[in-house]
This record gives sequence, structure tokens and C-alpha cells, in this order.
Amino acid sequence: MGIKIAIDGPSGAGKSTISKTLAGRLGYIYVDTGALYRTVALGCMRAGADLESAEAVARCLPSLDISLTHIDGVQRVLLGGEDVSEHIRTPEISLWASKLSALPAVRAFLLDTQRAIAETRDVVMDGRDIGTVVLPDAAVKIFLTAAPGDRARRRYEEMLSKGAECDYETVLREVMERDERDRTRSASPTVKAADADMIDTTGNTFEQSVEQIYAHVKKRLL
Ligand code: C5P
Repeated sequence: MGIKIAIDGPSGAGKSTISKTLAGRLGYIYVDTGALYRTVALGCMRAGADLESAEAVARCLPSLDISLTHIDGVQRVLLGGEDVSEHIRTPEISLWASKLSALPAVRAFLLDTQRAIAETRDVVMDGRDIGTVVLPDAAVKIFLTAAPGDRARRRYEEMLSKGAECDYETVLREVMERDERDRTRSASPTVKAADADMIDTTGNTFEQSVEQIYAHVKKRLL
């Protein structure tokens, strides 16, 4: 049984960059579960399913072959054996991943995949329901958050650095809409697990957040 660290929270709180760095320092693997939801959206889209229909999406799920692998410590997500790690980083996929992740059938479909990864290895897993549903027995649970303006600014800078054309106001609106949907859905909403520690990264530099969380995890793992 591996050591499990669960990091949940809304988008743009710095989950993925912080979790990745933390995993590297601890010598654990980093698992970005959002990539799985994104790949479900891409797979259903490629299969021509009507994404507005919960039934059509549920029917499409058994045909999707989704797996995660790590190459030199970096997570890659495979759809039918094809590495789609870059294809899933578009605003369209962000939107559909958020919408489809509200469907209980989609969540159930990805549950075993997520648990199996943490079964034999030490992991830092980030998502929305890792501490509450996927790994309720995680050794350390953190709920990472930050003020909406900070979260949108991080997403905006991340998109600009990838060469995407976007404006801050649109990114802010999309981040708020996505989080509202994740927080208020009935299937595994984004909520802090009762035994998770809340850490707010508002105003922090990336380095400050990493130091704070690393120190926190070390203390918890003692
Ligand atoms: O984290 P990321 O933005 O890549 O996740 C894409 C979408 O997948 C989120 O907006 C959220 O709706 C969904 N998600 C989820 N549960 C997770 C991880 C992601 O519902 N554990």
C-alpha cells in the first residue's frame, strides 16, 4: 500500500504545479485526475456522442480506453493508446470536462482507474473529490484555495505562456462558472473533507506555497 496525499480545491488555486513539485520532492508520483475527466470529454467528442445527453455520454463510456502512464516522472494520459496529454488542454475541453464531470456515470467510470494508481505507489493526487471520495483514507488531505481574482490571474498567465489568445475578464468568468458547477453538483461536489486542512494561497508566490505545503505534509507524515 502506498502513501497517499490528496490535494483538492477549485481551479487555479495552484493545485497542479504545487502537487507536481511536492511529489518530486517526496519522490512520489503525481497524479492529475482532471486529465482523466478531460480525456472522457475528448473521447466522447471524438466518438461523436451528443455531449448534452447524459444517456448518450453514459453509452459512450464503455468504448473509451483511458489510462495514465508516467514517462520520466511526467504524467501522460492515453486514449486508445494515443498520448492525448496536449489535446486535452483547450478551453472547449475545459468546459466539457466540467459539464461531464457532474454526471454520476462519468465519476463511477473513473473511480477504479484513480484508486488503482494509488494502490501500489506513493502518490500526490490532485482533483476535486480525492479526499472525500477517491482516497478517503489518504494520509494527508489538503484543500487548497485562493481568492477568485488570484485563481483567474494564474489561469490567465498559464494560458498566455502557452500562446493562447485570451482576455482576463473571460478567463475570470469561465473560472467562476466552472467552480460554481463543481461546487454545487450533487455527485461528488468540490468540498473540503472533514479531516482535510484548508490552505489559502492568496497573495503567495509559488515558492511560498510550495514551502508552506511541504512543511505541512512533512509534519503530518511524522
Ligand atoms: O483540474 P482540471 O481543470 O484539469 O479539471 C477539469 C475538470 O474536471 C474540472 O473543472 C472538474 O469539473 C473536473 N474534475 C472533477 N473531479 C476531479 C478532477 C477534475 O470533477 N477529481
